[in-house]
Amino acid sequence: MRLVSFSRSSSTIHTGVVVEGGIVDLTLAGLPDDMTELIRLGESGLQAARDAAGSSKPLAFEGLRIHAPIPHPPKNVMCVGRNYLEHAAEFSQSGFDASERSMVPEHPIIFTKAPTSIIGPDEAIVVANDPTGTVDYEGELAVVIGPGGRRVSDAQAREHVYGYTIVNDVTARDLQKRHVQWFIGKSPDTFCPMGPVLVTADELPDIAGSWLRTRVNGELRQEGEISTLIFDIPTLIETISGSISLEPGDIIATGTPPGAGIGFEPPRFLSPGDTVEVSVDGIGTLRNPVT
Ligand code: MG
Repeated sequence: MRLVSFSRSSSTIHTGVVVEGGIVDLTLAGLPDDMTELIRLGESGLQAARDAAGSSKPLAFEGLRIHAPIPHPPKNVMCVGRNYLEHAAEFSQSGFDASERSMVPEHPIIFTKAPTSIIGPDEAIVVANDPTGTVDYEGELAVVIGPGGRRVSDAQAREHVYGYTIVNDVTARDLQKRHVQWFIGKSPDTFCPMGPVLVTADELPDIAGSWLRTRVNGELRQEGEISTLIFDIPTLIETISGSISLEPGDIIATGTPPGAGIGFEPPRFLSPGDTVEVSVDGIGTLRNPVT
């Protein structure tokens, strides 16, 4: 299923399922209007959503606004740094990584983005929220956690994956460098575009075979196959849950392939008027203008 958070005109956000010709409103079917609450229902929620999708008349797409699928995650958006070899190299060579010890990390580098940075598809990334004017894009596959847990082994990890979405890990590069710890450079308001849909895991059994591509103003900048992650999804779940309780609706952005703006000489940062599109096979395209 392709789940969305959406609204009609100025009304509140509802959960929905994308079907032929529109969106079935799950809130009208008695399901929660908050995606995190729907995820907490687990398999019974999924079954009820499937039933509603198969029996309800959809709302036409026209006039509906799509929001980030998980506008209010239970904790910060968790992210993985330098998780593709060639991006590790371009970041290392860019001089923007103040935390660097070795180019390829021995253990996953985990940092977070503030939930207040989350925006939906077609919402604007506001470069003025970075006082240093060094706004960069990072297209990423994001994993959404279903059942929570502690000390999940990599063999059990798949049972904890609810589905997948796309995140653009927008970054203020000079802030990232200046403050050493990455939180402030990763968290300005509007710097976490997410969406457009949350695809349930059953629809993407071979997510490792999907390719991710980022385009700026139509120009292909980033390209990578998910299978080339240095630390794969089960390893990330095992690592994080080894010390932190994972909760339903938690989001893990898995890292970005080569081709970020800092990979160019001189760096190619985002400017007002640009459009960034991040596509992942089987999920779709997350498109955001820059203002
Ligand atoms: Mg990133």
